[in-house]
Amino acid sequence: MIEKPIIDELCRIAGRENVLTAKEELTAYSYDATNLWRHLPDAVVLPHTSEEVARILRLASEKRIPLTPRGGGTNVSGGSIPVRGGIVLVTTRMNRIIEVNRTNLSATVEPGVVLQDFQAALAREGLFFPPDPQSFAGCTMGGVVAENSGGPSCLKYGVTKQYVLGLEVVTADGRILKLGGVTPKNRTGYELMMLFVGSEGTLGVITKINLRVLPAPKASQTIVAVFGDVATAGETVTDIIASSILPAKVEFVDNWTFDKFRGLLPDSSLKRAQGILLIQVDGLPETVAAEAKEVVRLCQRRASEVRVAQDKAEADRYWQARKAHFSDISSRAPTIVNEDVCVPREHIAEFIRLSQERARYYDVPLSFAGHVGDGNFHPVVLTDSRNREHYTRAVKCVEEIIDIALSLGGVLSGEHGIGLEKQRFLKKAMDPAAIELMKKIKDVLDPHHILNPGKIWED
Ligand SMILES: Cc1cc2nc3c(=O)[nH]c(=O)nc-3n(C[C@H](O)[C@H](O)[C@H](O)COP(=O)(O)OP(=O)(O)OC[C@H]3O[C@@H](n4cnc5c(N)ncnc54)[C@H](O)[C@@H]3O)c2cc1C
Repeated sequence: MIEKPIIDELCRIAGRENVLTAKEELTAYSYDATNLWRHLPDAVVLPHTSEEVARILRLASEKRIPLTPRGGGTNVSGGSIPVRGGIVLVTTRMNRIIEVNRTNLSATVEPGVVLQDFQAALAREGLFFPPDPQSFAGCTMGGVVAENSGGPSCLKYGVTKQYVLGLEVVTADGRILKLGGVTPKNRTGYELMMLFVGSEGTLGVITKINLRVLPAPKASQTIVAVFGDVATAGETVTDIIASSILPAKVEFVDNWTFDKFRGLLPDSSLKRAQGILLIQVDGLPETVAAEAKEVVRLCQRRASEVRVAQDKAEADRYWQARKAHFSDISSRAPTIVNEDVCVPREHIAEFIRLSQERARYYDVPLSFAGHVGDGNFHPVVLTDSRNREHYTRAVKCVEEIIDIALSLGGVLSGEHGIGLEKQRFLKKAMDPAAIELMKKIKDVLDPHHILNPGKIWED
């Protein structure tokens, strides 16, 4: 519970209209896109400037008040849940695109800019920012950097960390740090800036971001391949990656979310199918045509049907169907346990087969989707947390799927982060000495542990 004098001070800093304390207002900031986590903050503050953020942090630090940074609240790891109460600092009113610089191939944004708005501004200049989390209509640039987000295009172009050139960060004690710059190269001292990329709001509040951007590809082509078996689709991905072609995107959905493809693909081919690969190649028109032809040839070895989208409108319809996967699968059961493991691409089919075997053993429905070209899977076990017996089996199955991924040389999280959801697995996924080192870094930057407490590792 935050006392009234502190609320009054927050109002003086950010303006009364930017401080929320009514229960119904706080409720809107008590959850994110995860299923099970909820916690009310004591106050929500929506600052407009870095200086306001710095003053809020100084106050929180002095009074030892927990503070959870929040952008769009779309994360799926419990990252923005204020589990210790206190203040939720929302960045959505710091939403200016400060500069798009064509000559420099760079852009500077405030953290609350929504990714989709940023992409639209870049497109007007013939540019693009490749990381494309499928929540782009709601996620903010601060959240994207704090989670080091990925997405379909990261196969060819790399994840967010490959695009961060500079950051302005407010530390727990209210200092405004300027790190990096706008040049593509910078070898000045330690890479301190990278500490904050993927730090999930636990080390500082990101208040300005300089990003590398790229010229938009001149052409692209989308190929859809339908498979009778999930693991066979996985083998095709390994074939494509091992060929000399690097598609922009190779995405997978299984038959749990085929409904979105009905009307786009013939019912007869979907009836017997278990999985769909969506592949996009991009670049110069001549290269795109040649690469699309080769991808079609590789898919035809195992797919029951292969289609090349005839125009952008058709391609967009397939990608819309892919984008709808998460909301669709979320509506299929009262509770979903959604994972985010990433496996070496040579083991994709093996990972799928072993995971399916575990789902059969525990007798729970398992769906696969994800950025399969990166080996990044979102296996989803469908369950109901009110049915303890089923839910226990579902959780056990997910734990074993994580073990399978780790035993194949994979990692615990490809893009969603650890937050609350995955912290109980951290010990088996990370060197204990590395966890200790992370804790020491936290102690240096946030000695009173006010920033997003309770996240990443278990206390
Ligand atoms: C339908 C759906 C699809 C998704 N698809 C993808 C996907 O393809 N790839 C992917 O990587 N993720 C995906 N996500 C997860 C999520 O959208 C991303 O992690 C996104 O980048 C989070 O942005 P946000 O603004 O919503 O951040 P929030 O959820 O508000 O916060 C995420 C974390 O970042 C911290 N944070 C936020 N802003 C700041 C800041 N300014 N300074 C410091 N810390 C901050 C928070 O404390 C929290 O720990 C998906 C989610 C949904 C619901």
